[in-house]
Amino acid sequence: MASIPTPGVTRSDESARSGLDVDALRRGVLDNLVCLQARPPGIATTHDWYMALAYTVRDRMLARWAATILTYAASELRVACYLSAEFLIGPQLGNNLVNLGIEANVRAALRELGQDLDELLALEEEPGLGNGGLGRLAACYLDSLATLEIPSVGYGIRYEFGIFDQEIRDGCQVEVTDKWLQQGNPWEIVRPNVNYYVGFGGHTESGNDAQGRYKVRWIPSRMVKGVACDTPMLGFRVNTCNTLRLWKSEAVESFDLQDFNAGDYYQAVQEKVISETLSKVLYPNDEPEAGKRLRLAQQYFFVSCSLQDMMRLLDLKGEPVTRFADMFTTQLNDTHPSIAVAELMRLLVDERMIPWDEAWDITCRTLSYTNHTLLPEALETWGLPLFRGLLPRPLEIIYEINRRFLDTLRQTYPGDEARIARMSLIDESGEKKVRMAHLSTVGSHAVNGVAALHSTLLRQTVMRDFAELWPERFHNVTNGVTPRRFMLLSNPELASLLDRTVGEGWVTDLTRLRKLEAYADDAAFQAQWRNVKRSNKKILAERIRHVTDIVVNPDALFDIQVKRIHEYKRQHLNALYIITLYQRLRRNLDPGNVPRCFIFGGKAAPGYAMAKLMIRLITGIAEVVNNDPAMDGKLKVVFYPDFNVKNAHFIYPAADLSEQISTAGKEASGTGNMKFMMNGALTIGTLDGANVEIREEAGDENFFLFGLTTGQVDSVKREGYRPARHAESNAELRETLDLIAGGYFSRGDPQVFRPLVNNLLQVDPFLVLADYADYVACQERVSAAWLDPVRWTRMSILNTARSGKFSSDRAIGEYCERIWKISPVRITLDQI
Ligand SMILES: *Cc1c(COP(=O)(O)O)cnc(C)c1O
Repeated sequence: MASIPTPGVTRSDESARSGLDVDALRRGVLDNLVCLQARPPGIATTHDWYMALAYTVRDRMLARWAATILTYAASELRVACYLSAEFLIGPQLGNNLVNLGIEANVRAALRELGQDLDELLALEEEPGLGNGGLGRLAACYLDSLATLEIPSVGYGIRYEFGIFDQEIRDGCQVEVTDKWLQQGNPWEIVRPNVNYYVGFGGHTESGNDAQGRYKVRWIPSRMVKGVACDTPMLGFRVNTCNTLRLWKSEAVESFDLQDFNAGDYYQAVQEKVISETLSKVLYPNDEPEAGKRLRLAQQYFFVSCSLQDMMRLLDLKGEPVTRFADMFTTQLNDTHPSIAVAELMRLLVDERMIPWDEAWDITCRTLSYTNHTLLPEALETWGLPLFRGLLPRPLEIIYEINRRFLDTLRQTYPGDEARIARMSLIDESGEKKVRMAHLSTVGSHAVNGVAALHSTLLRQTVMRDFAELWPERFHNVTNGVTPRRFMLLSNPELASLLDRTVGEGWVTDLTRLRKLEAYADDAAFQAQWRNVKRSNKKILAERIRHVTDIVVNPDALFDIQVKRIHEYKRQHLNALYIITLYQRLRRNLDPGNVPRCFIFGGKAAPGYAMAKLMIRLITGIAEVVNNDPAMDGKLKVVFYPDFNVKNAHFIYPAADLSEQISTAGKEASGTGNMKFMMNGALTIGTLDGANVEIREEAGDENFFLFGLTTGQVDSVKREGYRPARHAESNAELRETLDLIAGGYFSRGDPQVFRPLVNNLLQVDPFLVLADYADYVACQERVSAAWLDPVRWTRMSILNTARSGKFSSDRAIGEYCERIWKISPVRITLDQI
């Protein structure tokens, strides 16, 4: 195939596997179409062409991948391992094209083959291996690690079914199974020979070995095999191509065989089904902990495989296990991988015969822990019976860690039994539970929060006792997001304007955007800036029309709130404002010369009834408002279904206003807020999470601030919050709530939103009503600012200009320097 010359195309000498010119890419795509996808061009579907292109791009990454692996294997260097139950990496094709710098050539090569790059890009299924912010953060960090040339591996779970696809039917969320693997995944390389066994259940036996040493043997009742599934993670315009290694569970053949030989064929099949269930599905809860047995099994499974993998690499290098902490530094992304503390101890003590104290020193020097939430209901705990049944030996190890820890506490705080009970790894206040955040903190050398405010609150609240005991252990690393995906890839027009204005270096040094400040008042530049935004809004408007049939005006103020649906994120506060505005417009109480388009997106956890009701409220408001002819040209409401990374690409760049309105103290950091800021949206927000730092960077005058502070939230609650009072004293709020309760947004059915309205009036755990009036007033300031386009554009430019801090490159730089003590390693291609 590849040898057939296409008329009018010059043949190059570059290899079809690695060449980057148009002809080599064209030949590569044809080769892969025929030889890997096994389809002749004449009958290939667009999906076949997508696969062929993906393989062609992957070919260009493989030499870099091999060079990276060889370099890490050969040298005495430290590798950062990022352990996370979620990696929300998003579509890979576009990002890899950008990182290789071959988008234009690929586009041209495809054109010669009669294919359109954008059409192929749109076909890619995204690996939805995460719920939201936490999983996306892990993905941004892998991007920065590779771009900064840091030796690193991401370890996680290769879920067969990721986060569900969201459909909206009759205004309600319907969950549809995610089938991301159905058509094959060209980015994944399965390595059946990289596999480990993980035990579950059974019992332990102790005794002395031949040398007279005390030894514990764990005899599990069930073994599961973990197989490595690797995805290359290429950095931006560097040779570093790191690995995301996800574990897939398989049945252990020998076990099957035993049962099979005993004649119990169905038992054998059953075992296989159970084992393969382990990595089947991602738990769809974003925050509150479910306490499910399978989830604990998933956590132990991927942690054990990952630690065994590190041990094997150490063995391959010929290093003794006592050097584990010198060779690996391991970050725990929230408590999901916290069982690593017990498992690393088990591997060192039980399997490698390292004395306890030495093993403990290695463990603490290896591990560090990132806390992601202060919400008490989200802090992970596991009941002892469940834990013991599944992981008897790790539980014994946790007991021993705790016994020693409590002994030292008794010396430090003699007689302070209340404090000791608070700090124990076991919560004995009710039904006994293992506290995973405590386990992570005790077993790590560093603990960090994810924004300045969050880290401060962490030290003052949930981790207070620990911060008093080990103040030097606590850090802050404010989150960041990758400008490659969230600017260069998803906002090419802005990227090109930035290239022309401040030079291309901003992509890897985002602080260079500060140079934009000089153009903030330049009329010609302002016009270009507005053109870029307007163009992005047209693209989003087209998508909205395509998926919802709603026609929106690209000249309206695009007011966007996209994120998981949760009471603490307060999408319902936004909804209350829309209803208020709607009432004002109907009565001509609002001049209505700021046409607004409110756009929502986000998934609700399937079992979270209130969040699902919030979606229904938004779609109910949309139905009424969008069908009211009096609102034409004034007000539109859109719920954009299935918010995921792919959709995020054209949502963030189109925003004029970013809604970051969580109750102060509840959002640990947020990262959506950063993506909006980089793309020139202004923020309306509370003093919560990274909003505080966003405002600090942007300047108070370029941020719309409202709402109670964390201190005020606490005192309102302390003094006995009575939400109904706010409704009693505010006629507009009362009317808004009455409309909802009366069925105005539920086709006359007053039952539908009863639970939501009652909850707000009677409990209102997230102070929606307390912040309502200030929010409405702040929205009026937003409208006033919009009426002055020169001022608005200036604010928009300054937000982008001052967003440099929120690059994940800065965040990863801080982890490397303060927590991991690790430096870059240059990868060259001459060794392969
Ligand atoms: C950035 C991102 C999030 C996190 O958004 P927040 O506003 O910080 O909650 C969630 N989901 C996707 C798909 C994202 O890209």
